[in-house]
Amino acid sequence: MVEQAQELDFEAPPRGSAEELLSAEAGDPLDPMRHSAAHVMAEAVMDIFPGTRLGIGPAIEGGFYYDFELPQPLTPDDLARIEARMSESVAADHEFVRRVLPPDEGRAFFEQRDQPYKVEILDDLRRAAEGADTDPPEVSTYEHGPFIDLCRGPHVESTGRIGPFKLMSVAGAYWRGDEKRPMLQRIYGTVWSTQAELDQYLWRREEAKKRDHRRLGVQLDLFSFHDASPGAAFWHPKGWTLYRELRGAMRDLQARRGYQEIYTPPLVHQKLWEQSGHWEHYRENMFLIEAEQQTFSLKPMNCPESTFIYRSRVRSYRELPLRLAEYGILHRNELSGVLSGLTRVRHFVTDDAHIFVRPEQIGAEIAGLMAEVREAYSWFGLEPTLTFGTRPDKALGDPQVWAETEAVMRAELERSGLRYRVRAKDGAFYAPKIDIQIEDALGREWQTATIQVDRVMLPERFDLWYVDENGQQQRPVAIHRAIYGSFERFIGVLTEHFAGAFPFWCSPVQAVVVPIADRHNEAANELAGVLRGRDVRVEVDDSSNRMQNKIRLAQEQKVPYMLVLGDREVEARTAAPRTRSGEQQPAIGWDELAARLAEEAASRRPD
Ligand SMILES: [Zn+2]
Ligand SMILES: [Zn+2]
Repeated sequence: MVEQAQELDFEAPPRGSAEELLSAEAGDPLDPMRHSAAHVMAEAVMDIFPGTRLGIGPAIEGGFYYDFELPQPLTPDDLARIEARMSESVAADHEFVRRVLPPDEGRAFFEQRDQPYKVEILDDLRRAAEGADTDPPEVSTYEHGPFIDLCRGPHVESTGRIGPFKLMSVAGAYWRGDEKRPMLQRIYGTVWSTQAELDQYLWRREEAKKRDHRRLGVQLDLFSFHDASPGAAFWHPKGWTLYRELRGAMRDLQARRGYQEIYTPPLVHQKLWEQSGHWEHYRENMFLIEAEQQTFSLKPMNCPESTFIYRSRVRSYRELPLRLAEYGILHRNELSGVLSGLTRVRHFVTDDAHIFVRPEQIGAEIAGLMAEVREAYSWFGLEPTLTFGTRPDKALGDPQVWAETEAVMRAELERSGLRYRVRAKDGAFYAPKIDIQIEDALGREWQTATIQVDRVMLPERFDLWYVDENGQQQRPVAIHRAIYGSFERFIGVLTEHFAGAFPFWCSPVQAVVVPIADRHNEAANELAGVLRGRDVRVEVDDSSNRMQNKIRLAQEQKVPYMLVLGDREVEARTAAPRTRSGEQQPAIGWDELAARLAEEAASRRPD
């Protein structure tokens, strides 16, 4: 029966966001302690509020929660009382003891204690067992001190093994996530092995709040969101400058690598989506538009349309690799409830490209792409981690061809020197893929972009071919490639990573000239002109604010350089740059300063 107990689906640690899923796959070694803390919290709540009904209490990323049905709403004071009561239980070092009860006895036990949610779980398990034609499962419980819970474990040995913890918040949560069922109160807590880890976790949470890109977007005047177009950013001049700088850097890289840029329509007829398979598998995520009794969709991806350019004439083997880049406008119909700032949007643009190669060119092209990844991420001082996803069980195409493609890709990953891990069977159903992830300044992992080597979907569904050396028609390989991924998401991640202090080369405003008094305003504008002559993005603060205020404002706006001008500087036509971190640099002539800043921008060095 032990095997069966492990199959029970209650209290399985659910995980939060898609990002968290990336790192949480294997389960965390702290999970038994986190889940044990949930039991101790339930004990405390039952003790303080007799008659509480229990939902579930799993371990989650960084901590735990438990759902309660309580006679009254919880307040912050209550959390402090619960914490204090939990500390007593930890100090008492109660042992966790597992007991297995026969099915009927177990059900009766929880029914007598007026725990209808636990009874419901047991009834569901029994029904599932009947459906599978197996015996009703025995009831596994864990007991510590005065508290007993329906639970499959595992737990730590005793409550004394629970490390430093803190209760974080209370939120409403529908039983089983179903809005037709009762709303329970969910208490979130965090627990760690050491006080230092707890402190670090709390600091990171605070810091993450401060760095939230939705908040910084407003504070730095980068972008805003409005109900008039949910899930789509309204880009303000500064945010759009950042966006264009990132796109410009990628366009430079693409030009050096021999890409050609194309543009295809955002509004596409249903027929094309039927051919690509999106109509069957992806229609719910597409925005549909009727015109003249025909159905069109706003495109959710560029792939199918790129094939029109490829097929516009007969392609010779000599033309390959053919690299077609497109900054197409994409829409995906995400539910309004899941939209979140720039990281979960309906409207976005990616640095997309489709590269058509001969099969024997796959290796060289992957090598080139790995160099693109390395270069692009170096502009931000980021070292990406790659994840190699191999053939899933349900895949299109010949397994032998998959195996060959994967072998070539893996060899190039090895050679690239970039960090990578293999995730078996995690490829797309039509292509093995390399996902790009970065870890930000707070240690959070974000997936940004993906590279897929497609030998089936575009080549076969759209009947692509080229003429080889012998005049024979051959199928090309289509590599779908993005390096940043969506600009929206990438900028959201960068904003949080840099806390708005973007590298100099892409900062929306690179320098602010600060005249000390009104009589310096004219020279300030002159200096700004010299800098603009070298394409430095500069503003002049000729407001009536005092100098210290002007400097503080520029620092709050994370402007890389402040150039203070007083009598002496105006006289000598110099400026003494002060960095946003507060470093005072020696005075330097205007022309020399302009040349230096232009060079710094062109180098795209991270700060
Ligand atoms: Zn448990
Ligand atoms: Zn594609």
